[in-house]
Amino acid sequence: MSRRILVTGAGGFIGYHLCRRLLTEGWIVHGLDNLNAYYDPALKRDRLAHLENHPGFQFHTVDLADREAMTGLFTGPHFDVVVNLAAQAGVRHSLQDPAAYVDSNLVGFANVLEGCRAQAVDHLLFASSSSVYGANARLPYSVHDGVDHPLSLYAASKRAGELMAHSYAHLFGIPCTGLRFFTVYGPWGRPDMAYFRFTRQILAGEPIPVFNHGQMRRDFTYIDDIIEGVVRLLDFAPRPAPMSTERPDPSTSDAPFRLYNIGNHTPVALLDFIAILEDLLARKADIEWLPMQAGDVIATYADVSELQEAVGFSPATPLRDGLARFVDWYRNYYDAS
Ligand code: NAD
Repeated sequence: MSRRILVTGAGGFIGYHLCRRLLTEGWIVHGLDNLNAYYDPALKRDRLAHLENHPGFQFHTVDLADREAMTGLFTGPHFDVVVNLAAQAGVRHSLQDPAAYVDSNLVGFANVLEGCRAQAVDHLLFASSSSVYGANARLPYSVHDGVDHPLSLYAASKRAGELMAHSYAHLFGIPCTGLRFFTVYGPWGRPDMAYFRFTRQILAGEPIPVFNHGQMRRDFTYIDDIIEGVVRLLDFAPRPAPMSTERPDPSTSDAPFRLYNIGNHTPVALLDFIAILEDLLARKADIEWLPMQAGDVIATYADVSELQEAVGFSPATPLRDGLARFVDWYRNYYDAS
């Protein structure tokens, strides 16, 4: 019998790709999104239009922060698995609109956790971010290293989500897996991210703003590799703790909880990245050199050995190949030459 899964953020970049993959694998997929206007809602609706053709897909227009609507959703059919991808994303935007991060990433995530508790789901997976590593982490970033120096409210909200999930795993025995994604790119991507903006700006002959005078490295990870990592983890739930009316032992952190990096394990200098993009677009970029932005980190670099060991994950897509697929999609979608 098909299993039922709830994917929040289904109109978003990663959520859309995950739903597509799950539908091909026979899951009954419930997608949730509030279709907010952080970036072009038409792009979100276009993604959803592809999913809504499929008989196994059901869409819910719900805001995670709406407690009543969330309670209603979780009193409906039972979800075997929940994947929480809905969030206010973006480091820089968190300096301008902090309330959006509190609403979606803290209040909203608390509602997801409550729903998972009410339904005693088999597994909750949730999006975290490489940004939790913040200022002082050693490279490559390891899930075993402490992460208590977030540089933005976005990063702090993602770290807070990990801690909230840990407490629910500990108290209520909900198997929880946190997914620290590293700079995800690909077709149907996010227009607020650098690779997407640079493509638009280079094609339009506009200058591209390059922060920290280009002295940055990012572990760019192709969307299909991210989805492969998530899908492999769906049935790799941390050992469920027996539901008990007894108080858990507060002195242990023996919770059914895990964290994984999902990244490419190959950091690329921003200027090398721009050179590949110029090559694929057959245009030179007009670079506007700018200082470091508040909230940014200099480099990201995922140690993915934990994920490799757990589910045999290794990223398969070299940056040039993945970017070529993105550029093809972009030209086609926007009819841009
Ligand atoms: P996205 O913005 O494309 O998708 C998020 C979706 O969630 C959007 O469609 C948005 O409308 C929806 N949403 C936001 N707040 C909501 C709310 N309160 N209620 C219901 N829906 C809401 O982002 P994405 O790139 O697909 O990212 C998915 C997840 O992965 C996010 O949690 C993000 O923080 C995390 N992440 C992404 C990246 C990346 O590089 N894309 C890197 C690290 C972490």
